Amino acid sequence: MPYKAVNPFNGKTIHEFADATDTEVDQALEKAERFYRAAKKQPLSERAEQLEKLAHEFATHNEKYARLLTTNMGKLISQSRSEVKKNVEFAMYYVKNGARALQPIQYNNVPGKEAHVEFSSIGTIMSVEPWNFPYTQIMRVFAPNFIIGNPVILKHASIVPECAQAFEDACKIAGISEGAFKNLFVNYDQVDRIIADSRVQGVALTGSENAGRKIASAAGKNLKKSTMELGGTDVFIVLNDADLEKAVEGAAAARLNNSGQVCTAAKRYIVQSGIYADFLAGIIDEFSKRKLGDPLDERTTLGPLSSKRAQQNLHKQVSKILAGGAQILWGDPELPQGPGALFNPLIISGITPDNPMYDTELFGPVAQVYKADTESDILKIANNSNYGLGGAVYSKDTAHAKEIASQIETGQVAINQPLSSYPELPFGGVKNSGYGRELSDMGIREFVNAKTVLN
Ligand code: NDP
Repeated sequence: MPYKAVNPFNGKTIHEFADATDTEVDQALEKAERFYRAAKKQPLSERAEQLEKLAHEFATHNEKYARLLTTNMGKLISQSRSEVKKNVEFAMYYVKNGARALQPIQYNNVPGKEAHVEFSSIGTIMSVEPWNFPYTQIMRVFAPNFIIGNPVILKHASIVPECAQAFEDACKIAGISEGAFKNLFVNYDQVDRIIADSRVQGVALTGSENAGRKIASAAGKNLKKSTMELGGTDVFIVLNDADLEKAVEGAAAARLNNSGQVCTAAKRYIVQSGIYADFLAGIIDEFSKRKLGDPLDERTTLGPLSSKRAQQNLHKQVSKILAGGAQILWGDPELPQGPGALFNPLIISGITPDNPMYDTELFGPVAQVYKADTESDILKIANNSNYGLGGAVYSKDTAHAKEIASQIETGQVAINQPLSSYPELPFGGVKNSGYGRELSDMGIREFVNAKTVLN
């Protein structure tokens, strides 16, 4: 795919970028290697200072960076501002906690011996990122790796090239050491070659399961450590004793935020029979209040999908799910007219396990609703998925909600709130949602040499 920024609201091309040449790729790898070697001798505190300057750059020019998100991939401008703020939070977590998270761990459990494990950098990380959170997806990988001294080479999604470029420019403005971060407009073959290069020691991907299988294979073939943050069909469980208002509000936000294009979005509502009718009435009311339109207009509450391609793809998926026996409970499945990628929100029910689309990630404002009588039915539906990223449980009995949470086969579950990412907490999945953890102290220890020193 060519690297091209197209405004998904009106279909207008904003900026097209030339592909990276092989020479540019080689130069980037060479500079990254030089940074890696130099950083071995540089105090971590110097990199923390640079990272703080990068955070400051995003914080002081929030509006400039936010507008690029909105024009490249259609995020509501208010949500774009929030993403830029979160980008600052992610960076600042590692500014403040990086050194502590990398402290050696003492092992005094071998009789007569003393040992410790120390953490050091391993080399360049190839980062392949998606368009749904164009800045924070980069920062999740860049901030921890920069602190430890691993350079990062980025291949961003081809539809958000201005955001990728802006991140690199911000690094230059902040005085990030040369070679520590490089955005390259590379094709898939070049990504494979970069992964195979001996200077590259890690691969981080966020994206679809399909991309995950390809990138993880390339990493595995070359014996490179990888982290895979892939898709999900996250559940949003509402028990009979849930606070209805809170559940409805949370469910709508968890499905419609970012026009439904979030890996941990509430893709399947599983609602207990006693509260089902009221929940459904509430959620229809919430969905119908959304105003579809221009994401730069502050009055819009549901922006377009990220691209015309995403719109066509989701439209096909919905047609297939309906052909497979599901029904529309609420919403208009016809695509809005016009050059943009608008998509009407939909609520669908009657999705049975024999529906060919049963376990497909629907990346847009389409909610699936399941009604269940017992908690064991709820858990059966929840865990009948090849994905395992996140989920949420709503019940006034928090202790009981936690018991349910423990039985859900995912990497993260939120109680009485929509799932969200925090720099302090590990983020990642199980099953086909991938492996490895980003953010938190776990995130900074993914691409390290954990060296045991025995005395
Ligand atoms: P992809 O997974 O295809 O894209 C994510 C990133 O991976 C992009 O940078 C893409 O580059 C790159 N990529 C894909 N395949 C390869 C490859 N073989 N070699 C190197 N790089 C590769 O997502 P799409 O944008 O195509 O979206 C399709 C679907 O994926 C969505 O509808 C959604 O279901 C899911 N998805 C899930 C995400 C999540 O957060 N869980 C995020 C994004 C998508 P390029 O843009 O050049 O193709």
